Amino acid sequence: MADASDRDPTSALCAEFLSFSARDTASTWLLSLDLATPLYAHLARLVPHLLREGQGAGLREEQREELGIQLLLLAPLEWLLLGKEPSAALAALKEANRGSTLCGHVFRVGEPTYSCRECAADSTCVLCMNCFLGSVHKDHRYRMTTSGGGGFCDCGDSEAWKQGPFCSSHLPQDQDQDQDQDQDQDPVQSLDPDLVFRAFRVFRAVLKYAVDMLTWDQEDSLPPGLEPPDKDDTFYCMLFNDEVHTYEQVIYTLQKAVNCNQKEAVSFATAVDREGRTSVRFGDFQSCEQAKSVIVRNTGRQSKPLKVQVMHSTVVAHQVFALKSLSWISQVISCSDGLRRVLCSVALEAGPGPDVTLVDRLMLNDSKMWKGARSVYHQLLMNSLLMDPQYKKVFALRFAQNYERLQSDFVKDDHDREFSITDLSVQIFTVPSLARILMVEQNLMTVIIRTFLDHLRHRDLQGRFQFDRYTAQQAFKFGRVQSLIQDLKYVLISRTSVWSDDLRIKFLDGFEAFLELLRCMQGMDAVVRQVGQHIEMEPEWEAAFTLQMKLTTITTMIQDWTRTDERVLMESYRRCLSALSQGLSGLADGEQPISLSLAGHMVETFRYQVSQDKVSIHLPLCRMLAGLHVLLSRTEVAARFPEQLPLGELSPPLLLELPLRCLVLCAQVHAGMWRRNGFSLINQIYYYHNVKCRVEMFDKDLIMLQVAASMMDPNHFLMIVLSRFELFHIFSSVDSRKRFRESNKDLLQQNNTLIEEMLHLIIMVIGERFVPGVGQVEPLEEVRREIVHHLCVRPMAHSELVKALPENGNKETGLERVIDSVASFRKPGVTGRGLYELKPEWNKHFNLYFHHYSRADQSKAKEAQRKSRQSGPGPGSSPGPSSGPGPSSGPGPEAALVPPVPPPFCPLFASLVNVLQSDVLLSLEASVLQWASEPGSAGFTESMLQRVLHLIAMGLIEEKQQLESNSEDELTFNYSIKIQKLGSCGSCGSLLALLETLHNAPHLELHKDMIGWILKAVSYIKSWRQRSVSGSSVSLNSAPDPDDKVRERDKAERKRKAEMARLRREKVMAQMSAMQKHFINENKELFEQSLEPESAPCSSATELHRCQDSPGARVCVGPGRVGVASVSHVTCILCQEEQEVRAQGRAMVLAAFVQRSTVLSQNRQSSCSQSQSRDVLFMSPELALGIHTASCGHIMHATCWQRYFEAVQQKEQRRQQRLRGHTSFDVENGEFLCPLCECLSNTVIPLLPPATAPATSAVQSLDTWMSATNLQLAALRCNSGKFKLSNKPDEAEGAGPDEAEGAGPAAPEGFDLDFVPESMFCSSLSEMMSTFSLTVYKVGLKTNPNESDSRLSPLSWSTCCFSIQATERLLLDDGEKPLFGSLPCRQEECLSALCRFSSHCWTVASLSSVQQHFTRLCSALFSDSQDAPCFLDIDMFHLLVYSVLSYSAVQALDQSGRSSTDSAHLHLLHLATVAHLVQVLLSCGVGDNTNSEGAMEHDGGGAEEHLTLELYRLIQTHLHSALPAVACGWQLWRCVKAALLPFLRCAAMFFHFLNSTAPPADLLLSDGDQWEALCSYLSLPSNLLLLYSQHRPLLEPLIHRWCSDPRVQQRMSRSESGSRSGSVLVRFPRESNHLVDLPQDYSVLINQASSFTCPRSSGDQARAPTLCLVCGTLLCSQSYCCQTELDGDDLGACTFHALTCGAGAGLFFRVRECQVLFVAGKTKGCFYPPPYLDDYGETDQGLKRGNPLKLCAERYQKIQRLWRQHALAEVIAHAQEANQTLAAIDWQHL
Ligand SMILES: [Zn+2]
Ligand SMILES: [Zn+2]
Ligand SMILES: [Zn+2]
Ligand SMILES: [Zn+2]
Ligand SMILES: [Zn+2]
Ligand SMILES: [Zn+2]
Ligand SMILES: [Zn+2]
Repeated sequence: MADASDRDPTSALCAEFLSFSARDTASTWLLSLDLATPLYAHLARLVPHLLREGQGAGLREEQREELGIQLLLLAPLEWLLLGKEPSAALAALKEANRGSTLCGHVFRVGEPTYSCRECAADSTCVLCMNCFLGSVHKDHRYRMTTSGGGGFCDCGDSEAWKQGPFCSSHLPQDQDQDQDQDQDQDPVQSLDPDLVFRAFRVFRAVLKYAVDMLTWDQEDSLPPGLEPPDKDDTFYCMLFNDEVHTYEQVIYTLQKAVNCNQKEAVSFATAVDREGRTSVRFGDFQSCEQAKSVIVRNTGRQSKPLKVQVMHSTVVAHQVFALKSLSWISQVISCSDGLRRVLCSVALEAGPGPDVTLVDRLMLNDSKMWKGARSVYHQLLMNSLLMDPQYKKVFALRFAQNYERLQSDFVKDDHDREFSITDLSVQIFTVPSLARILMVEQNLMTVIIRTFLDHLRHRDLQGRFQFDRYTAQQAFKFGRVQSLIQDLKYVLISRTSVWSDDLRIKFLDGFEAFLELLRCMQGMDAVVRQVGQHIEMEPEWEAAFTLQMKLTTITTMIQDWTRTDERVLMESYRRCLSALSQGLSGLADGEQPISLSLAGHMVETFRYQVSQDKVSIHLPLCRMLAGLHVLLSRTEVAARFPEQLPLGELSPPLLLELPLRCLVLCAQVHAGMWRRNGFSLINQIYYYHNVKCRVEMFDKDLIMLQVAASMMDPNHFLMIVLSRFELFHIFSSVDSRKRFRESNKDLLQQNNTLIEEMLHLIIMVIGERFVPGVGQVEPLEEVRREIVHHLCVRPMAHSELVKALPENGNKETGLERVIDSVASFRKPGVTGRGLYELKPEWNKHFNLYFHHYSRADQSKAKEAQRKSRQSGPGPGSSPGPSSGPGPSSGPGPEAALVPPVPPPFCPLFASLVNVLQSDVLLSLEASVLQWASEPGSAGFTESMLQRVLHLIAMGLIEEKQQLESNSEDELTFNYSIKIQKLGSCGSCGSLLALLETLHNAPHLELHKDMIGWILKAVSYIKSWRQRSVSGSSVSLNSAPDPDDKVRERDKAERKRKAEMARLRREKVMAQMSAMQKHFINENKELFEQSLEPESAPCSSATELHRCQDSPGARVCVGPGRVGVASVSHVTCILCQEEQEVRAQGRAMVLAAFVQRSTVLSQNRQSSCSQSQSRDVLFMSPELALGIHTASCGHIMHATCWQRYFEAVQQKEQRRQQRLRGHTSFDVENGEFLCPLCECLSNTVIPLLPPATAPATSAVQSLDTWMSATNLQLAALRCNSGKFKLSNKPDEAEGAGPDEAEGAGPAAPEGFDLDFVPESMFCSSLSEMMSTFSLTVYKVGLKTNPNESDSRLSPLSWSTCCFSIQATERLLLDDGEKPLFGSLPCRQEECLSALCRFSSHCWTVASLSSVQQHFTRLCSALFSDSQDAPCFLDIDMFHLLVYSVLSYSAVQALDQSGRSSTDSAHLHLLHLATVAHLVQVLLSCGVGDNTNSEGAMEHDGGGAEEHLTLELYRLIQTHLHSALPAVACGWQLWRCVKAALLPFLRCAAMFFHFLNSTAPPADLLLSDGDQWEALCSYLSLPSNLLLLYSQHRPLLEPLIHRWCSDPRVQQRMSRSESGSRSGSVLVRFPRESNHLVDLPQDYSVLINQASSFTCPRSSGDQARAPTLCLVCGTLLCSQSYCCQTELDGDDLGACTFHALTCGAGAGLFFRVRECQVLFVAGKTKGCFYPPPYLDDYGETDQGLKRGNPLKLCAERYQKIQRLWRQHALAEVIAHAQEANQTLAAIDWQHL
C-alpha cells in the first residue's frame, strides 16, 4: 500500500515539473498584497507530495526529493526575492558585499580550535584552523582543543583579542579609518531599495512559516492555510531520543515493536541519536499507534518511557521543509551583509501577538523541539544575529530577558547542554561590552544567581542547602543547574576597568545575591565526631564540594572585580561583614564564658570542643571576608580611609572561631581522632587542601587567622588556639602535663600529633606572607614560591606542575611566566617526559613548613634538600648574610634547614610578628625544649622539637632583619633578649640555656645542626647589638666547628647510605624470589641463586665466536662446508638442571610465540583472501601472509614445561569460574607467559642437536645430480601413483609404502622405495616436534589442528623462512646492522632452533607426503610437471628452503651410499639463485629509464655486465616484446646485485643456522661491500652469472621453460597495461613496509579526521575516527554503526580491520584522543603513548591540556620498530599484566 501511494503523486509531480515556471509563480506572488496566502497555498499543495520520509527511500529517491524542493519550492522564492535569475543575482550580491571581517565559521564536532594564551580576552575565544594559520597567534603560546560542535570562530571580533584580531583573510580591506564607519554604516543602504522591500516580505513570510511549523504541537492538523487539498491519511510513528535510554535498550525495543531486524534497529537508533527523532513506521494510524504502545510499554518499566508520537505525514513533511527553508535563508544571507541585517530585523520585530518576536517564539519552544530542529535554527541564529554587530546587542537583551524561563526549560529538558539554546550564553556573555550592558540593563548577575538559588529550594531549618536529602530527580536537576555557574563565570570573566554608577549598583546587587548563595552554604554538611561505633552510612559530601569547586573561580573573580574600585570594595566588605555577623552572633549565645590564663596573661572565651560539637568545613562567608580584607590591605584602602571601614565592628575572636575549628578538625583527623567517621570526612579534608579548592578554603582560613591575630593581643590569640586544640591544660599546669604523660599510649600519641599540628599552624600564621596584601609581594612571587617548593620535592614535568597550581578563570596558572627563572628544563629521551629541575640557587628559599606540603611531601622534600645541601655548593659559595645570620661557616649549621627569609608584612598585618615574641609562645617553646631535654620522655617527638626550633629560628631571622634595616631606636623586636632572660619559661632557666644543653645531647643528633645554627645566630645578633652600641664591626665568621664533627657526620652518612643500599638489595631479592615463587614452589631455594637469564642459554653466540679463528674461506653450504658439531649444554629455567642437547636425551624446549603476520606484505589486498584450504607449498613473492615465530630465549625441559603449563591451565580454570573476563593470555589457545620473563608465548620449539659434519663422499656435478634426482622423482611419482590407485590412504607417522609391487620406470640403484628410516629422536622429542608443528598449523591456517594433514611440514618450513626473512629485513632497516653478530641472543637462539627443527620435522610427518612435496617443488625448478604455479608467483627463498628441507625425506631412501646431501643443497641453492636471477631480470624494468650517464662512466664493462646483458637478451627472445630493450649491462648488473642481496642474505642465515657454520669476519661488520663475503660464504662465484654461463646447456632449457609459461607472458603484459587488482608483479628488492606518514603538526591530523564521516551512516561524523597506521585507512571506531558480525561476535571497526589488514594484529591512532591503540585478536588490546609531544616533552593522551603537539620522529620510529619486530602482542600482554583494568576494556568493540 505504501508503494502505491508513493507512486501516484510522483507521477503527478512529473507533470508539475514540466509545466511549472518559478519565474511566473514569483511574479503572481509579487502582485498579491499578502505574500503569506499564496505561498501557504503553494506549500500546502506541494510539500506533502514532495517530502515523504517514508521507509526505504533510496538514494535516487532522496535526489529526486532534493531536486523537487529546489525547483518547485525554493526557486520561486528566489525569483521573488531577487527579481532576476537567482544564481547570477546571488553571485552579484556576493561580489558587491564588502566581505565580512568576522569569520563566524561554525565548528564541526571534533574540529580543532585554537586559542592564543597571550592575546585571547578569555579562554572561550577561539579561531578556526584557517584563521589561526593566517594570524599572528600561530607564533604565540597557544592552546589547541577539539570542538564539541557548535560555537564559532572569533576571528575579526576585536573584543575577543588583545591584539591581532584579524587573520590575513579577514583583515578589513580599507584600513582602520574605515573601520569605524563600518560599524556605523548600514549595509542595507548599499542595497537596491526594491530588493530590500522584497527581502522584508520574503523573509517575513518564510521565517514565520518555519517558526509556525517548528513550534507546532498538533499531531494531525496543520496551521490555517496549510491544510492540504487532498488529504490522504498516512501517519508516521515518530520516535524521539532522550538521554536516559541506552542504545541497547532502544535497539532491543525497536526489534520488538516494529518487527525489524537488528541492522535496521541499529540504523534507527543511530538516526534517532543523531537527529533527535526518526520515524520507525509509516502507515495507517492503527499500525503506528500499535508500534507506539509497544515501545512505551517496553521502555516504561524502569524509567520514563521513550517519547513516541503518531504524527500525520503532512505535519512531518511541513516540518522537514521548514528546516530546509531555514537552511535556505542561511545560505542566502551568507551572500550579503545587507540581507542578513534585513533578516535580523524581521526576526526581532515585534510579532502580531503581545510583544513576542519570532526569535522569542523559537527560544521559548527550544526544549520542545527535537535535536535536529534545534541545531538548524541555532546555526541560523549564529549566522545571522550573532554576526551582526547591531542586532547582536538586541538579541542579547532578548536572550537575557528570557533567561530565567530558558534555564527552567533547560533544567526540565534532558538533552545535553550543547543542544540547548542556553548554550548560546557563551557567545553572548563572554563579549565584555555585551556583558556590561546586560548587567546594567537586565541586572544579569543577580538574575543568574537568583535563578540558581530558585532551583535549589530544598533547605534545612537554617536555610542551608541540604544535599544529603536529595532525591535522584533533584540530584539530576542539581547537575543541570550547575551550568548557571558557568554562565556567571562568562559574565565575570573579563573584569571591568570603567565603573559607572549604574554598574556599581548592579554589581553590588549581584554581590548581595551571591552572599545569599554563600549563606546557604555556610555551615552545611556539619559533622559530629563519632565515638564508640563506626558511622553506619557514609554521609553525602560530593554535591557540596562540587558546588564549592565550581564557585571557587567565581569567588576569586568577584574579589578581582571589587579590587578595581574602592567604593565597591568598601561596600562589598561592609555587606559581607554584616552577612557574616548575623551568622556569628549566635555562636556565643547561651554559653558561660570561661577564662584561661597562662604565662601571666588571661583571656575569656566560650566553651566549645571540636571533638564533641558540630563542626562544618563549609565557611564561604568567612572566606569571602578574609579575601576582601586582604584586598583592603593590598589596595591600601584601609590605610587611606581607615575611618570609613567598619573595622571596629569586628570582634577578632568571633572572626577567628569558625576557621580555627575547621583547622582543628583537620588536625584531629590527622591525629586519628575521627577514624569512626568514615571516608566521607577523609575525602572532605582531602579536597579542603586540594589545589582545586584550597584557594577559597584552606588558604582563606589561614588568612582569617592572620587577620584576627593581627588585630588582637598575640597572647590571647595563642591561648584561644591552645584551647580549641584542646591542649590548653597540657601547657597550663604541671599536674595535667604529668597526667598527660602517663595517659595511655593512644591518647599520648594523639596529643603529640595535635601539638605538632598546632605548632605547624602557628608557623604558618606567622610565616605565610606570599599572598599579595598579606605580605609585600608581587602576584608572581606567590606562583614562583609554589613552583620552587614543588621542585624541592623532586624534578617535575610541566603537566604535573600545572596540575599542582591553582588555575584562574582563564585556566592559566602563571607557570610559564616564572618557570624559566627558577628551573632548568631537561629533555626527554625516547620514553619518559621532559622534566624541570630547580636551579640550585633557589634552594635557599626552601621552607620545610610550606603551607601546601602534605606530610608526605614534607618528608620527601626534607630528604631531598638534606641531600642536595650536602652534595651541593661548598661552604665558600654559600649565600651571603642575607640568607641568615652567619651561615657561611662550618658545615654543620649549613646543612640545617633554616627557615628562609620571609618578605615583610603589609602594614595591616605587621603586628603578626609579635606572636613570635609573645610570652605564651615562649612558654610553649620552653616546655617542649624542657621535655626534649629529658631523654626517654614519652611526651615529646622529634617533629615537635623541629617545629619549635623552626619557630625560634624565625624569631631570630625577624630580629636580624629588623636590626639590619632599622635604626636602633625603632627596634621593637627583642627576641634574642627575651630568650636569654632568666625565667622566660617558668622555673627552668632561659630558653637559650636550654638550647645550649640540648646542643650536645646525644639523643638529639638529628637536630644538632639546627641548634648549632640558632646558637650562632644568637651570638651574631648579640655582637651586632654590641657593635651598634660600640660602633665596632663584627665579622660574620664565628668560630668554626671542629673537624672531628665533620668526620663524625660523614661517617654517620656513610653508614646510613650503606644501610639504605642493603635494604634496597633485600627488597630486590624479595621481589625476585616472589616472582619466581609464583611459578614453582618446590625449587624455591635454587631460584635464590643469582640468575643471568640472558647469558645462560646463549650457546650459539659463543660457538660462533669460538670458530672465528679457524683460517681459510669459510663456506656454510655444500660439500666444502665447515661444520661444527659441538655439544651444547643448556640450563632449564624451571629446575635449574643443566642438560646436554641430544637426539636421545631429555627433550629441551624453547618458549615461543607463533603469530600470523602481514608485516612484509607487498599486497595488502590479497592477505584477506587467504583461505584455510589453500595450497601452502608455494609462497608468493608478495609475502602477503606469513607465520612469524619469536622467542624470549628461555629454555626448559619439555617435562618441566608441561607440568608448568598444566598448572597454569588449572589455575586459569579456577579463576574463570570465579570471575569472568579476559586475562593477558588465552590458555584455551595454548597461550602462557614465560615462567621467567613473562613474555607471551603459545608454544615451545624443541631443541635439536646441531648438524653433523659433512660426509666426505664424492662430489656430484650438477648434471649427474639432476639426472639422478629426476630418476628418483620418477620412481617416486610412479610409486605414489600406484599407491593412489590401490586406494590406500596416506599413513601418518612416517610410514612409507609397505607393499610396493611391480615397477614403473626402474628405480635407481640403491634407491629403496620401501625403506622406512628409523626415528633418530626419542619419543619426548618427537612429541614436542609434533606440538610445535601443530601450533604452527593451527595459527597459520586459523583452523583446528589436524595431525594427518600433509601441510604440516610446509607450514613448519614456512615459519622458518618467514622468520628469517623478517629478521633479515629488520637488520637492514634498523640502521643497516651487520648480518651476523648483532642479533640479540634470544633471536639467534630462536632462529637456530627453528632451522634445526625444520630440517628434521619430516621425521614426524608422513614420509610420502614430504616426498610428494619435494616432487612438486622440483617441478617448479627443473623436473617435468604441470602442477607448479606460475614461475613469477614463487618466492625463491621459500622454494630453496623447502626443497633443501624436504630433500632429506627423499635422500633417506637412497641406500647406495653414493649420494651426498651437501652437494644436493649446493645444487638447489645454485638453481634457486639462477631462477631468482631470471625473476629479477623479468621484473626489474630497467628499460624505461635507461641511464646513459651511468653507461658512459662505465665504458667497456666487465664480464658481469656482459653476461647479464646476454642472459637478458636470451630472456627477451622468449618473451618477445614484453621486456624493454636495454643497451648496456652495467645498470642491469647493478640492479641484479641489489635485487639478489636480500635473497643471498637470507640464504646465508639459513645455512648458517642449519649447519652451524661460523660466518666470516666481513659479515660481522656493518660497513663495506658484503657481496664478496656473502658469495664466498655461500660457495657462490661473486659473478653470479657464471652459475648460468658454466651450465648453459643444462640451464637454457630450464630458462626457456620458465619464461615460455603463458602465465608469465600474461603477467608481464598485465603489469604494463596498468595493474588490475589481484596479484601484483613484485619488484626486487622488495621495499620495506613502513607505517603511514603522520603530519608534523598534530592539529592537521585532527582537522583531517574532523571531516571524516562514517562510511555506513551517511554524512554522520564519526565520533572516534581512528587511523590504521599500517595502511592509512580511517575507521569509524567504537560505534554501533560500524560493527561487523563475525562468527557470532560483533566486532568494532578497528578489531575487524586488524583481522584483515594485520592478520589480527592492529596498530591504530585514535585521532581525537591522541592515543595509539594496539589490538591483538578479538579481545586483547592496550593503549600506547602517542608519538606526539608538546614543547615540554610530554604526550597528551585524551587531549586534556591542549598544548600544541608535534610529531616526535624517534618515538614514531620506536612504534614502527615494535610493529616490524612483531612485538605488538607481547606489548599488549605486558601492559595487561601490569594494569589489570585494561582487561576490563571492551577491546572487541573498538
Ligand atoms: Zn575562522
Ligand atoms: Zn579569519
Ligand atoms: Zn596571540
Ligand atoms: Zn627442568
Ligand atoms: Zn622468557
Ligand atoms: Zn590497515
Ligand atoms: Zn560508523
